[in-house]
Amino acid sequence: MIKQITSSANPLIKDIRALERKRHRAESRLFVAEGARLALEAEEMGVYPKTLLFSSEALERPAVRDLVARMDAAGVDCVETNQRLLSQITRRDNPQNVIGVYRQLDRGLRELDPKTGSIWVALEQVRDPGNLGTILRTADAVGVGGVILVDECCDPFSFEAVRASMGSIFAVPLVRCTLQELLRWGREGGARLIGTSLQTEHRHDSLELEATMPKVLLMGNEQAGLTAEAVEACDELVRLPMRGRADSLNLAVATAVMLYALWAADGYPGARA
Ligand code: SAM
Repeated sequence: MIKQITSSANPLIKDIRALERKRHRAESRLFVAEGARLALEAEEMGVYPKTLLFSSEALERPAVRDLVARMDAAGVDCVETNQRLLSQITRRDNPQNVIGVYRQLDRGLRELDPKTGSIWVALEQVRDPGNLGTILRTADAVGVGGVILVDECCDPFSFEAVRASMGSIFAVPLVRCTLQELLRWGREGGARLIGTSLQTEHRHDSLELEATMPKVLLMGNEQAGLTAEAVEACDELVRLPMRGRADSLNLAVATAVMLYALWAADGYPGARA
């Protein structure tokens, strides 16, 4: 049954508004994803929200009406509301008129087998949610085994990271772990750990890798790069060549270039025609 809520004092709305805060997201294990397109994509992957909110205007669109009917039938809490409340929830003047509240999907590293993916991305202490979301999107495009957040990272379920991921937050396996856990997991799974750094002479295109061996690409923090401990643990350390005045690449850009280089070295297996 579809509920109608128009008051910002409603406890459900208050609770959803609180998902703007990291602490509330961590406690509730929920997050907000904006837009009918994302809700449809998530549904295609078999992911349903706990709650779906939509404006009365959105219901005039047949695609949204059908979406709401399917969600309602699937037992999702469906709430008809107005643009003002959607704007308050998303902190946007022009909010999307469909918003889903989803359960967080990250899992334990032990649930993933390095051998099930040829390429993995590990991010050590990534701090910028925009970078993280962009990396999730690229990781999805390349079809990596998963994205591994190492030690203290920004929240992948923040509004900004979810927006930047453009739906890939639903598609890419995501785990959090410590550096030691990552190293043990990679070692036990026979993976090659490829670190990136500005302080090495080895170019990324000098890597000689066996196609059958899983590769874990390890990227560093936006300010400090990789920790000394991570650098020490890498099987290979490479840099992307530069020749202009910039002293480094943006983390998400460097990750994209590295991922495409690794995928190219494998011959782009699985690429869509
Ligand atoms: N001052 C930091 C340093 O010296 O490492 C710069 C960090 S950089 C903005 C953030 C991350 O992006 C690096 O840790 C590395 O993973 C990656 N990165 C950026 N530019 C790179 C390059 N030219 N070669 C390899 N990795 C690069």
